[in-house]
Amino acid sequence: MDTGKKPQFVEDDVVVSIDYELTVDGEVVDSSEGEEPLEYLQGHKNIIPGLERQLAGMRVGETRQVLVPAADAYGPLDPDAMVEIPRAEFPEDIPLEMDLQLEVSDSEGEVRDARIVKIEENTITLDFNHPLAGQDLNFKVTVVDLRQPTAEELEHGHVHGEGHDHDWEEEELEEDEE
Ligand code: ZN
Repeated sequence: MDTGKKPQFVEDDVVVSIDYELTVDGEVVDSSEGEEPLEYLQGHKNIIPGLERQLAGMRVGETRQVLVPAADAYGPLDPDAMVEIPRAEFPEDIPLEMDLQLEVSDSEGEVRDARIVKIEENTITLDFNHPLAGQDLNFKVTVVDLRQPTAEELEHGHVHGEGHDHDWEEEELEEDEE
Protein backbone atom coordinates (compact mmCIF):
# COMPACT_ATOMS: atom_id res chain seq x y z
CA MET A 1 0.00 0.00 0.00
CA ASP A 2 1.18 3.52 -0.75
CA THR A 3 1.60 5.20 2.60
CA GLY A 4 2.73 8.45 0.96
CA LYS A 5 5.84 8.42 3.08
CA LYS A 6 9.03 8.84 1.08
CA PRO A 7 11.60 6.12 1.75
CA GLN A 8 14.85 7.42 3.21
CA PHE A 9 17.20 4.82 1.79
CA VAL A 10 17.33 1.82 -0.54
CA GLU A 11 15.72 -1.22 1.05
CA ASP A 12 13.49 -4.10 -0.04
CA ASP A 13 10.12 -3.13 -1.59
CA VAL A 14 11.26 0.42 -2.39
CA VAL A 15 11.18 1.77 -5.97
CA VAL A 16 14.66 3.05 -6.75
CA SER A 17 15.66 5.36 -9.64
CA ILE A 18 19.32 5.25 -10.57
CA ASP A 19 21.69 6.82 -13.05
CA TYR A 20 24.40 4.36 -13.89
CA GLU A 21 27.48 3.82 -15.99
CA LEU A 22 28.73 0.31 -16.64
CA THR A 23 32.43 -0.14 -17.32
CA VAL A 24 34.06 -3.42 -18.37
CA ASP A 25 37.85 -3.57 -18.77
CA GLY A 26 38.00 0.21 -18.64
CA GLU A 27 35.48 0.61 -21.44
CA VAL A 28 31.99 2.09 -20.92
CA VAL A 29 29.57 -0.50 -22.32
CA ASP A 30 26.26 0.84 -21.01
CA SER A 31 25.00 4.04 -19.45
CA SER A 32 21.78 5.83 -18.59
CA GLU A 33 23.27 9.12 -19.75
CA GLY A 34 20.87 10.99 -22.01
CA GLU A 35 18.05 8.65 -20.96
CA GLU A 36 15.57 8.46 -18.14
CA PRO A 37 17.06 7.02 -14.95
CA LEU A 38 16.52 3.29 -14.56
CA GLU A 39 13.67 2.60 -12.16
CA TYR A 40 13.41 -0.78 -10.45
CA LEU A 41 11.91 -2.44 -7.38
CA GLN A 42 14.58 -3.32 -4.81
CA GLY A 43 14.57 -6.88 -3.48
CA HIS A 44 12.81 -8.50 -6.45
CA LYS A 45 15.74 -9.44 -8.66
CA ASN A 46 14.81 -6.80 -11.24
CA ILE A 47 18.52 -6.10 -11.67
CA ILE A 48 21.55 -8.37 -11.33
CA PRO A 49 21.70 -9.64 -7.75
CA GLY A 50 25.29 -8.56 -7.08
CA LEU A 51 24.39 -4.97 -7.91
CA GLU A 52 21.11 -4.95 -6.03
CA ARG A 53 22.78 -6.19 -2.85
CA GLN A 54 25.38 -3.43 -2.85
CA LEU A 55 22.84 -0.64 -3.43
CA ALA A 56 21.02 -1.40 -0.18
CA GLY A 57 21.24 1.49 2.28
CA MET A 58 22.01 4.20 -0.31
CA ARG A 59 20.27 7.60 -0.05
CA VAL A 60 19.09 10.01 -2.75
CA GLY A 61 22.04 11.89 -4.22
CA GLU A 62 24.56 9.29 -3.11
CA THR A 63 27.00 7.84 -5.65
CA ARG A 64 28.78 4.53 -5.29
CA GLN A 65 31.31 2.55 -7.30
CA VAL A 66 30.10 -1.04 -7.29
CA LEU A 67 32.21 -3.96 -8.50
CA VAL A 68 30.17 -7.02 -9.39
CA PRO A 69 32.30 -10.10 -10.07
CA ALA A 70 31.24 -12.22 -13.06
CA ALA A 71 29.85 -14.94 -10.78
CA ASP A 72 27.34 -12.42 -9.34
CA ALA A 73 26.56 -10.90 -12.73
CA TYR A 74 26.08 -12.93 -15.91
CA GLY A 75 28.04 -15.95 -14.73
CA PRO A 76 31.13 -17.60 -16.17
CA LEU A 77 31.70 -18.17 -19.86
CA ASP A 78 30.15 -21.47 -20.84
CA PRO A 79 32.37 -23.27 -23.34
CA ASP A 80 29.37 -25.39 -24.39
CA ALA A 81 27.67 -22.22 -25.58
CA MET A 82 30.25 -21.93 -28.38
CA VAL A 83 28.89 -23.77 -31.38
CA GLU A 84 30.71 -24.67 -34.58
CA ILE A 85 28.61 -24.67 -37.73
CA PRO A 86 29.73 -26.00 -41.11
CA ARG A 87 30.16 -23.04 -43.42
CA ALA A 88 27.97 -24.74 -46.03
CA GLU A 89 25.02 -24.67 -43.59
CA PHE A 90 25.41 -20.98 -42.89
CA PRO A 91 22.74 -18.88 -44.67
CA GLU A 92 24.25 -17.09 -47.65
CA ASP A 93 22.42 -13.81 -47.05
CA ILE A 94 24.15 -13.24 -43.70
CA PRO A 95 27.46 -11.40 -44.03
CA LEU A 96 30.39 -13.22 -42.46
CA GLU A 97 31.77 -10.61 -40.09
CA MET A 98 33.46 -11.06 -36.74
CA ASP A 99 31.25 -10.00 -33.79
CA LEU A 100 28.15 -9.84 -35.97
CA GLN A 101 25.05 -10.29 -33.78
CA LEU A 102 22.53 -12.85 -34.94
CA GLU A 103 19.20 -14.18 -33.81
CA VAL A 104 19.11 -17.92 -34.14
CA SER A 105 16.08 -20.17 -33.71
CA ASP A 106 16.87 -23.39 -31.90
CA SER A 107 15.16 -26.74 -32.52
CA GLU A 108 12.27 -25.71 -30.23
CA GLY A 109 11.75 -22.53 -32.19
CA GLU A 110 13.10 -20.34 -29.42
CA VAL A 111 15.03 -17.30 -30.63
CA ARG A 112 18.44 -16.84 -29.04
CA ASP A 113 21.09 -14.15 -29.47
CA ALA A 114 24.46 -15.19 -30.79
CA ARG A 115 27.66 -13.61 -32.08
CA ILE A 116 30.10 -14.73 -34.75
CA VAL A 117 33.38 -15.27 -32.90
CA LYS A 118 35.45 -17.32 -35.33
CA ILE A 119 35.48 -17.59 -39.11
CA GLU A 120 37.47 -20.46 -40.57
CA GLU A 121 37.73 -22.03 -43.98
CA ASN A 122 35.09 -24.68 -43.34
CA THR A 123 33.42 -23.64 -40.12
CA ILE A 124 31.80 -20.66 -38.45
CA THR A 125 31.77 -20.49 -34.64
CA LEU A 126 28.82 -18.86 -32.90
CA ASP A 127 28.91 -17.79 -29.26
CA PHE A 128 25.57 -18.01 -27.43
CA ASN A 129 26.98 -16.69 -24.14
CA HIS A 130 25.63 -13.40 -22.86
CA PRO A 131 28.07 -10.73 -24.13
CA LEU A 132 28.91 -9.90 -20.50
CA ALA A 133 29.37 -13.52 -19.34
CA GLY A 134 32.75 -14.05 -17.69
CA GLN A 135 33.20 -10.29 -17.19
CA ASP A 136 33.59 -8.38 -13.95
CA LEU A 137 31.27 -5.38 -14.05
CA ASN A 138 32.12 -1.94 -12.68
CA PHE A 139 29.08 0.19 -12.02
CA LYS A 140 29.05 3.85 -11.06
CA VAL A 141 25.59 4.33 -9.62
CA THR A 142 23.83 7.46 -8.35
CA VAL A 143 20.46 7.17 -6.60
CA VAL A 144 18.25 9.93 -8.04
CA ASP A 145 14.91 9.08 -6.45
CA LEU A 146 13.18 6.74 -4.01
CA ARG A 147 9.46 6.12 -3.70
CA GLN A 148 6.96 3.62 -2.34
CA PRO A 149 5.64 1.12 -4.91
CA THR A 150 1.94 1.00 -5.72
CA ALA A 151 0.09 -2.05 -4.42
CA GLU A 152 0.03 -3.43 -7.97
CA GLU A 153 3.75 -2.94 -8.51
CA LEU A 154 4.49 -4.70 -5.26
CA GLU A 155 2.21 -7.57 -6.22
CA HIS A 156 3.86 -7.91 -9.67
CA GLY A 157 7.33 -7.51 -8.26
CA HIS A 158 8.33 -4.78 -10.75
CA VAL A 159 7.66 -1.13 -11.51
CA HIS A 160 5.08 0.18 -13.95
CA GLY A 161 4.74 3.51 -15.65
CA GLU A 162 6.39 5.81 -18.12
CA GLY A 163 10.08 5.98 -18.75
CA HIS A 164 10.35 2.38 -17.74
CA ASP A 165 11.87 -0.11 -20.11
CA HIS A 166 9.83 -3.20 -19.38
CA ASP A 167 11.66 -5.41 -21.88
CA TRP A 168 15.00 -4.73 -20.31
CA GLU A 169 13.69 -5.78 -16.95
CA GLU A 170 12.15 -9.00 -18.20
CA GLU A 171 15.40 -9.88 -19.93
CA GLU A 172 17.24 -9.44 -16.66
CA LEU A 173 14.71 -11.58 -14.87
CA GLU A 174 15.23 -14.43 -17.29
CA GLU A 175 18.99 -14.19 -16.84
CA ASP A 176 18.56 -14.36 -13.07
CA GLU A 177 16.47 -17.48 -13.18
CA GLU A 178 19.02 -19.53 -15.11
ZN1 ZN B 1 3.34 -5.67 -13.86
